Amino acid sequence: ISRNPGENEFHQAVQEVAESIIPFIEDKPVYQKARILERIVEPERIIIFRVPWINDKGEIEVNRGYRVQANSAIGPYKGGLRFHPSVNLSTLKFLAFEQTFKNSLTQLPMGGGKGGSDFDPKGKSDREVMTFCQSFMTELFRHISSDNDVPAGDIGVGGREIGFLFGQYKRLKNEFTGVLTGKGASYGGSLIRPEATGYGVVYFVEQMLKLRNDSIKGKTVVVSGSGNVAQYTLEKCIELGAKVVTLSDSAGYIYDPKGIDAEKFAYIMHLKNEVRGRIKSYADKFGCTYVEGRKPWEVPCDIALPNATQNELNEDDARLLIKNGCKLVAEGANMPCTNEAIAVFENEDIMYAPGKAANAGGVAVSGLEMSQNSLRLSWTREEVDQRLQDIMFNIHATCTKYGHTPDGRMSYVQGANIGGFVRVADAMLAQGIV
Ligand code: NDP
Repeated sequence: ISRNPGENEFHQAVQEVAESIIPFIEDKPVYQKARILERIVEPERIIIFRVPWINDKGEIEVNRGYRVQANSAIGPYKGGLRFHPSVNLSTLKFLAFEQTFKNSLTQLPMGGGKGGSDFDPKGKSDREVMTFCQSFMTELFRHISSDNDVPAGDIGVGGREIGFLFGQYKRLKNEFTGVLTGKGASYGGSLIRPEATGYGVVYFVEQMLKLRNDSIKGKTVVVSGSGNVAQYTLEKCIELGAKVVTLSDSAGYIYDPKGIDAEKFAYIMHLKNEVRGRIKSYADKFGCTYVEGRKPWEVPCDIALPNATQNELNEDDARLLIKNGCKLVAEGANMPCTNEAIAVFENEDIMYAPGKAANAGGVAVSGLEMSQNSLRLSWTREEVDQRLQDIMFNIHATCTKYGHTPDGRMSYVQGANIGGFVRVADAMLAQGIV
């Protein structure tokens, strides 16, 4: 803590992992002697840079850009870029740290990284977003490449932003390579990449329920967020016969007790991705409840899927969910549950899946995009979807392999942390003190 003062999110993420790893390595002197845990919490490299750009009024604005290159033991650094006013070093260090374990769980050759800026794309014109992206890439391009660091999207960085970033990289380097994932299908993007995180969450939930001879069909589901992950979580839930009753954004949530069907889903896609509007418009259009300034955890449900942002579900929320009948929580977002909320779920024997396992489908298909780019081939939708399902199945199996606690419970937290750690740790051991 004294080494990383004020980095609360980073401390939180490290604590959650360390609580699983320290008991695991207690009788494994090889990991202790090589000080793997001490090395894994220290990013290999951090780049911080100035991003000046000119807005539509002709004024100069200045933002800060970052890339945290956390760990390259098992492959090139890989992880998204986040554009949001809350972005700071602590947030990106926690995300890059988590990413290292998540990427390991996919079994694909990807190290951990994360980056972004405190730039807020909300309310900006396309031209302003392009100008910012070009300035951002004018520095970032010298630190990334298809064999060394391959960024993707995250909050505030979708297909539009990836397109602008890719265009500028190509112009600066004069080469067409798979340096970013989440690209458009017409210039090297993988089919199913936009859907992958949300679909993957639901595939993972299906595996969790299967352990109890159950399925998602007929379940009432509460989802937070209304961005990329929330949208495709919703679509897959509808397809598999679950009833999703909420979505949210940073201003509030909508509650539609009849459930969001395919027609309403089409409206949401238009609202969020074309008009770039607020979720409140859904309530206005379909005449359902809109609750301003609150989160959807007060709505009764069988399953809760926090899909917006970090620390959006605290201890009180966890208790309320359980009181109202919730039996399963799976994280589509990164670290949406506080450590206190996680403790409540684990102590009450609620099935709880951490983001590094449940939301790994996005980066997994990004890994598949890298493979397709290297081969200069495109796989079909069905082929990519099948690989995604296989990867989520295998991540679930890894969690169950390492997740049995001494008191006879199944902990997905323990399973994901140890399962992710072992592969990276063994690679670090093999590569010596670097
Ligand atoms: P988007 O930008 O598409 O959507 C983010 C959603 O979360 C929006 O509804 C946004 O509302 C809401 N949100 C953002 N910040 C806050 C906040 N401080 N308080 C309340 N709501 C907030 O991002 P994604 O859907 O891509 O990402 C969502 C989460 O999933 C993030 O934690 C991300 O790291 C994680 N994730 C994403 C992956 C991907 O493939 N995209 C992969 C794995 C994890 P508003 O519009 O009001 O800001």
